[in-house]
Amino acid sequence: ATIGPSSYDKAVLRKMFAAGLNVARINFSHSNHDQAEQIYNWVQELNEEENRNVAILGDLQGPKLRIGVVKEDQTLKKGEKITITTEECIGDVSKVYITYPDFPKDVKVGDKIMLDDGKLILRAESSNKENEVKAKVIQGGDLKSKKGVNLPNTKISLPCLTPKDLADLEFALSVGIEWIGLSFVRSVDDLKELQKIINDKESPAKIVAKIEKPEAIKQIDAIIKQTDAIMVARGDLGVEVPMERVPNLQKMITRKCIKYSTPVIIATQMMESMMDSLSPSRADVNDVANAVHDRVDGVMLSGETSVGTYPVQVIKAMSKIVKNQENHVDLEMEEFPPVEKKNGRYISDTICFNACKIAEQVDAKAVMTMTHSGYNAFKIASFRPPSKICIFTNNRKIMNTLSLIWGVQGYYYNEFVSTDDTISDIKSIIKEKGVVQEGDMVVNIASMPITEKGMTNMLKLSLIE
Ligand code: PEP
Repeated sequence: ATIGPSSYDKAVLRKMFAAGLNVARINFSHSNHDQAEQIYNWVQELNEEENRNVAILGDLQGPKLRIGVVKEDQTLKKGEKITITTEECIGDVSKVYITYPDFPKDVKVGDKIMLDDGKLILRAESSNKENEVKAKVIQGGDLKSKKGVNLPNTKISLPCLTPKDLADLEFALSVGIEWIGLSFVRSVDDLKELQKIINDKESPAKIVAKIEKPEAIKQIDAIIKQTDAIMVARGDLGVEVPMERVPNLQKMITRKCIKYSTPVIIATQMMESMMDSLSPSRADVNDVANAVHDRVDGVMLSGETSVGTYPVQVIKAMSKIVKNQENHVDLEMEEFPPVEKKNGRYISDTICFNACKIAEQVDAKAVMTMTHSGYNAFKIASFRPPSKICIFTNNRKIMNTLSLIWGVQGYYYNEFVSTDDTISDIKSIIKEKGVVQEGDMVVNIASMPITEKGMTNMLKLSLIE
C-alpha cells in the first residue's frame, strides 16, 4: 500500500499493519526525503511494537514526462493544432511546455502523444528538431497543468535514472529501504545500471522493475531474469499499449515471473472504487480475486491508501478478498522443476522443488529453511506449495524484504550449532508460535554441514512432536 497524505500518520499506519499491510510504498514522485524518512522510521517502530516484518518499497519516479503549467479552462478540440515547446511557458490551447528537452529531436512524424493518462491524444505532424513540435489533436479534452505525457512510439533518449532519481536512490539506500522500484524500465541495461549503484554502495536492496513501456514487453524474459521483482504498473502500461491488451499482458507476465521465480506485483486501480466509498465495486473485487487466482505475489494499492478516504478499510476489504480466494479455491502447485544442470544453484533448486512436491504429497503443514540471502525463500515460494513457508534468518532486513513474496513467513533465528540442532529448534519455534501442532508433518531443507551456508543440499520429512 502506498503511503501518502491519507496515511501519513503513525496511528493510521498501525491500523494498516493490523488490516494486512505487508509492504509500505513510498512514491518519490510525491514524497520528499523528510516525509520518506518519517515513514521509514514509523514502519521500523511499528515492526518492533507489533512484531511484524513490513518492508518498504521506495518507488523512483524515472523519466516521467509532463506538460507545464496551463491557464484555467483550456479545452482541446479534435482536429485543432497545438505546438509543444521545450521552452518554459504558461500553456494554453495553442502552445504547451514539455519537460523533455530532446523531444523535438527524438519524435517522429506520426508518433502518438498521449496526455493525462491517455485522456487526450495528439499526433506529431512536424518538428523543427530544436525546440518545437507541431501536433494535431486526435482526441480532445480538458488540458490541465502538469499532467503526464506518454509517448508509446517514440524512442526516448532520456536516461532511466534522472538526477532526481539518483538523489532519491542515494537517500533510500542510506536509510536502508529494502526494495527500490525503477519506473519506465526499457531494457535490461536500465536494471544493470541501478544494480551497479546498489552494489557500489554495498547495499542489500532489491529491485522492482516496473513494466509500463512497450520496449520492456519486447524483452520481458530477459528483464524478469535480471530483476528481483516485477510490478505490472497498469496505470502507465494501459496508456503506452492499447488498454485492452493489459489483461493478457498481466497474465503473461505473471506466468513468466512464477516460472523464473521472480515475485510479481499487480498495481494500479485494484480497489479504485473505494477511493471514497466503503464498499468496492464488484469489478474491483473480481480484479483482485483474479490476480490472486493467477498466483501473484502482491496486490498493490496506490491512490486508495495515499489520498483515498478509507486507507484502512480498503486494506481490510482487499485482505478479505485475498484470503477468501486462497482459502476456498483449490489452487495447484506450480510445476517448473529446475532443468539447467549447469546452473550453480541446480542442487539447491532441485531440493526446493522436491521439498514442495513432498509437502504437497503428504499434506505437510510447513516447508522450512534457514536463509542468508533470502534465495531459498524466493525459490520455494515460486512453486506455490500448499503449505506454509517458514523462513528463518539472523538478518532482520531480510525478514522485511521477504514480506513481498508469496506466502513467506519470516522468523528470527541466530544459532548455528549443527543442522540437526537447527532443525529441531526451528520446529519447536513454529510449534510454540502456533503455526503447526503436534502430529503435523513438516519438510525441512538445509545445508549439510551447516557451515556450507547457501548450498542447500538436504531434505528431511518429519513429524512435529
Ligand atoms: C502505474 O503506472 O501503474 C504505477 C504504479 O506507476 P506510478 O504510480 O509510479 O505512476
